[in-house]
Amino acid sequence: MSGATILHADLDAFYASVEQLLDPTLRGRPIAVGGSAQGGVVLAASYEAKAYGVAGGMPGWRAARLCPALRFVPGRFREYQPLADRVMEILGDVTPAVERISIDEAFLDVSGSTHLFGPPAQIAALLRRRVRAEVGLPISVGVARTKHLAKIASQVAKPDGLVVVEPERERAFLDPLPVGLMWGVGPVARERLAERGITTIGELARTPSDAVERILGHATGARMSALAHNDDPRRVAGAGRVRSVGAQSALGRQVATPALVREVLSHLADRVAGRLRAKGRAGRTVTVRVRFPGMRSVTRSLTLPGPVATTLTLTEVAEQLAWQAIRDQPGRDVEITLLAVSVTGIVGQEALQLELALHPDDPRRPGSEHGAARWAVDRSVDAVRARFGAHAVGYLPAAMPRLHTVPDEFRELAEKDR
Ligand SMILES: [Mg+2]
Repeated sequence: MSGATILHADLDAFYASVEQLLDPTLRGRPIAVGGSAQGGVVLAASYEAKAYGVAGGMPGWRAARLCPALRFVPGRFREYQPLADRVMEILGDVTPAVERISIDEAFLDVSGSTHLFGPPAQIAALLRRRVRAEVGLPISVGVARTKHLAKIASQVAKPDGLVVVEPERERAFLDPLPVGLMWGVGPVARERLAERGITTIGELARTPSDAVERILGHATGARMSALAHNDDPRRVAGAGRVRSVGAQSALGRQVATPALVREVLSHLADRVAGRLRAKGRAGRTVTVRVRFPGMRSVTRSLTLPGPVATTLTLTEVAEQLAWQAIRDQPGRDVEITLLAVSVTGIVGQEALQLELALHPDDPRRPGSEHGAARWAVDRSVDAVRARFGAHAVGYLPAAMPRLHTVPDEFRELAEKDR
């Protein structure tokens, strides 16, 4: 392995920072999102509140006792996801290798971007500037040779900082840090290690692996021992990953009727959404291509407020886009020869799972009541298909003779994910 080219970018006190961004009177003040002085639980605390020992997960009454000036705010949850998505888009401007691991943090591999944007430290500084200027939020970045070390570096960089760990400085950087900063070391592990006199990462690295395994159990012990030596082979998952998923159907030459368009698009959406779900992914931008006689094509796309991977939602969006293209054509009884659906702006499923909590009413969101129901239906369709095959179940009537002239298995070979 070579240089320090992995970035871990993590928004600072994300929920609290958003509240301070949206309400300037909260800036510079200790605030808690969620909970109250009477009860409930604090979901997030601003840095001003953290200075008093207030932390996420703490009962509200306790937070109020620690910091009498604490302002409790209810949390504008609908604002969080779009702002975090904008940050992720900025990160995606410097490399396609962005692996989002939660709503507000991601790993980036910038090894392929240095010729365009300069050394990794410069890229990290650029991203921090852009996130601050364009979204208005503080973000800390760690830069290192491995994911594990980049994540530790970003924690050390907080708040609102940048820490670069060059390979020759790794040992000196890690040695004095508390073991609790390591990914996967929780309070229990920390206590067990402390009982054996191990409190720093350096002490952990100097303890033989088999001794650590006796303390933490075989698997965890071996992993922690390796990480203490910065031995972490995990790559950034975004690297070389899928950037678009699509499917198309040639139709011969047919008049575009609502029934035909619906039938074809739901079939295509089913294949695209199924492949997204199989990869644990979802996408925000839906593009539909309609081809007319004479090989003339029209493309329409729409970027949704959140990522989709549900068949029915994708069908509805695709239908809307297809009709925009068809209605723009002169005359009645417009003929079409091909329909294609693709999804880009691909993100990991963790972003989607967050949607479940964050979006109560937009029906296209998985978090809405309808969205959650659609998601549940899709999951069971996927499960049945995994056992009994692709044609076992679906939204469609099984008989679609017009489209089954070419078996789906052959189509899918041609539908390469890019
Ligand atoms: Mg964060």
